[in-house]
Amino acid sequence: MTDRIAAAERTIRERWPDVRLLTDEPMSRHTSFRIGGPAPLLIIPSGPESLESVCRLMDGLELRPLLIGNGSDLLVEDRPLSFPVIQTHSGNEAARLLPGGRIEAGCGITLARLACFARDCGLTGLEFAHGIPGTLGGALFMNAGAYGGEMIQVTEQTSVYADGSVFTLSGDEHGFGYRKSRFSEQGGVALSSVLRLSPGDPEAIGSTMEELASRRRASQPLEYPSAGSTFKRPAGAYAAALIDQCGLKGWSCGGARVSEKHAGFVISDGTAGFDDVMAVMDHVREVVLRETGFSLEPEVRIIRASGPAPV
Ligand SMILES: Cc1cc2nc3c(=O)[nH]c(=O)nc-3n(C[C@H](O)[C@H](O)[C@H](O)COP(=O)(O)OP(=O)(O)OC[C@H]3O[C@@H](n4cnc5c(N)ncnc54)[C@H](O)[C@@H]3O)c2cc1C
Repeated sequence: MTDRIAAAERTIRERWPDVRLLTDEPMSRHTSFRIGGPAPLLIIPSGPESLESVCRLMDGLELRPLLIGNGSDLLVEDRPLSFPVIQTHSGNEAARLLPGGRIEAGCGITLARLACFARDCGLTGLEFAHGIPGTLGGALFMNAGAYGGEMIQVTEQTSVYADGSVFTLSGDEHGFGYRKSRFSEQGGVALSSVLRLSPGDPEAIGSTMEELASRRRASQPLEYPSAGSTFKRPAGAYAAALIDQCGLKGWSCGGARVSEKHAGFVISDGTAGFDDVMAVMDHVREVVLRETGFSLEPEVRIIRASGPAPV
């Protein structure tokens, strides 16, 4: 552990005993791919103020931590990481109903829980998000979407920490595009958001969520570790269709392979390492480019152990 990371650990223990700290914590325990080397320090703030304080401390010590939500879009190198990790999922999970069909929620709430909260409030608009295994913060970063819905459609305002200040983003200021946002382009930590939804019948909302879940189960290899769709959709085509067309379903390296059920997913058999997944991704990109002329860009966030960590 470097001196500055050790100083961060000391300061947090002294000032904020409610913040959980884990040292040499394998990231494989915090990613849906079950891959990733140990973080020297994994910090789990206890709530929004705690998250903000930890971010300020990191800035003061000139440390660039990796921020993670549920780790469901990450491929982390399986060597010791050179930077601390802040996990938002275990704190920051509060949600409350505001007037006018709006919900305010902390960045660590899972989309499943948020969608159920909206249903219970009789609000429609988040059904699409129910089956996405991430947090609100991770979904804002990616402008996560499924079955015709995307975060851009429901996000009204977000409270953000960046460079020592807290400010509010509204509407277009989120910079949402296809699987991108102001966060993916400029950094910053989404602390909480206000989502605008519409009145709906809880039973109908629940049925839609169930129907989308069964479509997911039928088409996606949910029984294997993965980070969801490995590649973004290139303009004018679908990554999965291109990969299938190139005969790459089942192509493997070590414990990683292209799913036979959904060619858009690279999955692990539980033993895959970072290099196995990268080898499969590289091969897929090379063959698809050669055979179809489409260049596939990773959707999964690739985190190298040597940092500095992407914020
Ligand atoms: C089986 C499976 C199915 C999936 N299906 C879909 C799908 O249908 N649609 C889809 O869009 N995605 C899907 N995904 C991918 C993933 O679940 C989403 O991208 C999700 O939004 C990631 O959220 P997370 O909390 O897990 O983020 P993480 O993976 O933890 O982090 C992703 C990025 O977000 C950043 N981040 C996290 N929290 C914050 C915050 N508070 N402020 C700023 N940045 C933050 C991180 O630094 C990181 O760069 C799927 C993944 C799996 C494993």
